[in-house]
Amino acid sequence: MIPLVKPYVPEKNKLLPRLEEILYSGYIAEGEAVEEFEQKLADLIGNPYCVSLNSGTAALHIALMLIGVGEGDEVISTALTAEPTNTTIALTGARVVFADVDPETGLISPDSIENLISNKTKAIMVVHYGGMVCDMNKINAVSKKFDLPVIEDAAHAFMSKFKGEYIGTNSPYTCFSFQAIKHLTTVDGGLLCLSNEHDYLRAKRLRWFGLDKKVPRLQNNITEAGYKYHMNNVNATIGLVQLECIEKNVKRYIENGKYYDEHLKGTPGVTLLPYYKDTKPSYWLYTLKVDRRDDFIKKMAENNILASPLHLRNDRHSLFTYKGNTPNLDSFCDKYVHIPCGWWVSDTDKEHIVNVIKKGW
Ligand SMILES: *Cc1c(COP(=O)(O)O)cnc(C)c1O
Repeated sequence: MIPLVKPYVPEKNKLLPRLEEILYSGYIAEGEAVEEFEQKLADLIGNPYCVSLNSGTAALHIALMLIGVGEGDEVISTALTAEPTNTTIALTGARVVFADVDPETGLISPDSIENLISNKTKAIMVVHYGGMVCDMNKINAVSKKFDLPVIEDAAHAFMSKFKGEYIGTNSPYTCFSFQAIKHLTTVDGGLLCLSNEHDYLRAKRLRWFGLDKKVPRLQNNITEAGYKYHMNNVNATIGLVQLECIEKNVKRYIENGKYYDEHLKGTPGVTLLPYYKDTKPSYWLYTLKVDRRDDFIKKMAENNILASPLHLRNDRHSLFTYKGNTPNLDSFCDKYVHIPCGWWVSDTDKEHIVNVIKKGW
């Protein structure tokens, strides 16, 4: 079966010597390897304010804390995502308000966001689902008009672009995940990209109990309680080795995605998703809409191809009590499916996938 997701682990001869070195170096906590990893990410993304963490969930949680989201507040978000996008909002005590999606892309609808803004709204959470970038021109306009911060959940969108720049440079808060199956994995890990030094220094304290690493431990003074959310040297070392091949790997996702864009166009029963102006996806998943989805999934499975949605729409969890009207999400959820697109999908695989789809189901 060609899988939908798969962890990329660098070759043994590249990874293991570096891992052995760090494991027996006498310093496996947060240290130089973490700083080097952060610096390399900052250079790659083009944002000096990059804070590494032990998960993408931690990045989302700290972003919400930096904004001051809490009890009595509302955060407008989307249901079509992995759960941490919304469970972290719930953790702060705020209420998740589910916006509708654009029926063509499944991504959060700027018009729906605008309609749901109330005097309780504290932030807007957007998700670049599958690596497709949201309609940031319109979302930024709504953010500006109502003076509300945007958090980008970019767990799927490492090296996606908006206006020619990598995601992570556009909003005050962008969250990446380095979990097992993401574009870049450190086994577990995350990154929060910020837009100013104040947030950057505060995020660094919040990731380590509230302590300031630059001040000696015995002279520290905690003014705000933080979490244990920092990255360690072992995960950072894996990240450093991963960075050596990240451009090649992401290129593979993009080549495969573009191949589907070109070769599935006009196929009966298939509707491809359009990309917004000024955006370039990094195709973490390849998403399409199909007629008679169950039959499609069955046909693909018969040909050794895994095709499926990946996440349960989050408004189905009883934790989230907000029940809005999301007709476009309902219809999108009846039709969308992902097909394999990542670094492990070979040229032969992708030709096979296209041929199977073109034969019909
Ligand atoms: C993976 C993921 C996260 C959380 O990342 P972790 O590193 O697993 O905590 C958040 N949002 C989305 C959309 C994700 O897919």
